[in-house]
Amino acid sequence: MSAGEASTAGSSQIAAAVQRTLSAKAERFTESVIREMTRLAMQYDAVNMAQGFPDFSAAPEVKEAARQAISDDINQYAITWGAKELRDAIARKFERTQGVRVDPEREITVTCGSTEAMMAAMMGIINPGDEVVIFEPHYENYGPDAILSGATPRFVQLQPPDWNFDRDELKRAFGPKTKAIIVNTPNNPTGKVFSREELEFIRDLCVRWNAFAVTDEIYEHIIFDGSKHISMASLDGMRDRTITINGMSKTYSVTGWRVGWAIAPPEASVPIRKVHDFLTVGAAAPLQQAGVTALELPPTYYTKLAENYRVKRDRMLGILADAGFRCFKPAGAYYIMTDISGFNFRGDDVEFAKYLVRDIGIAVVPGSSFYDDPAMGAKQVRFTFCKKDSTLDACEKKLSKLCSR
Ligand code: GLN
Repeated sequence: MSAGEASTAGSSQIAAAVQRTLSAKAERFTESVIREMTRLAMQYDAVNMAQGFPDFSAAPEVKEAARQAISDDINQYAITWGAKELRDAIARKFERTQGVRVDPEREITVTCGSTEAMMAAMMGIINPGDEVVIFEPHYENYGPDAILSGATPRFVQLQPPDWNFDRDELKRAFGPKTKAIIVNTPNNPTGKVFSREELEFIRDLCVRWNAFAVTDEIYEHIIFDGSKHISMASLDGMRDRTITINGMSKTYSVTGWRVGWAIAPPEASVPIRKVHDFLTVGAAAPLQQAGVTALELPPTYYTKLAENYRVKRDRMLGILADAGFRCFKPAGAYYIMTDISGFNFRGDDVEFAKYLVRDIGIAVVPGSSFYDDPAMGAKQVRFTFCKKDSTLDACEKKLSKLCSR
């Protein structure tokens, strides 16, 4: 055995020893494909239509408020569960927009983005053996959220083209072990906006089985064509069994600030706050302060935001249809799910996405990232359109290469 072989054998023994001690939970999921696609976009110098972050500027007054907060020396830890001023502003806005009155002292936890709010909520309420109902396709984080919190997921399909769900299938997914259902409206990746009637149907099942609704409402202000965002907590009977997840990222175009929150009844907020405290202690204090300014922006800010995104959505629908994608028109959020069957591409969604990023210069998210069973997303890819016009121009140009093939 050469010296090289000996050292290889040695390191693989060490690797095997380490392997035994690693987390079985973490073994069960991969790194985020969405975030990986951004890295690939950078590597291949491709246009990033994959990860949902705006590439345009945030509102000047919100940025100025952050600069001012740092100058004012708001540079030390905020209260663990969030700066009082921000929690007050969150409570005021929730009442103003959804008519739900909450106690900022006992029912709001500010977190590092809604990602942490979701994880803290799940870890705060789940026990081994608990089941969580998840609509799919779903935002990829919910899978790892379920695994790390110890929940058993029960998937219920949203069916294209309208992404409706089968009421009986949903009924069957609930049972005595159901601890919660995750509802993401407006929905990523489908753009579905759940109707009042659908939410009431879900509400009745939550009440029947004494389950929580954990609702991810991060795209609440990105809605089109007269759709209305309805918070589950505003429904009769849901005020005290809903955990509302939200944040600054999408509404104020500051995804890198990592300021989110969970609004939950006091008894659920207690464990959520504890989990949050030991995960991250708190979100960035000066950015929480800037959040106060953001949450007080006038109603015109939100109408403009939605209208700007509607224009981008319509343009992107045209670009994609011209390039040969079958699009599912979103009623909210800033993604377009597409069907790629028309390309007769030999290979699945992952291979198609790799081809797009390497050979065409466009990064997208493979559909399988949004399903438990990858086969279900094998003919889908997701585009985001939260990009400036010049980025959409570049996307259009690159995609013209696809049509001419
Ligand atoms: N929500 C964004 C998306 O789906 C990404 C968020 C993130 O990467 N944390 O693309």
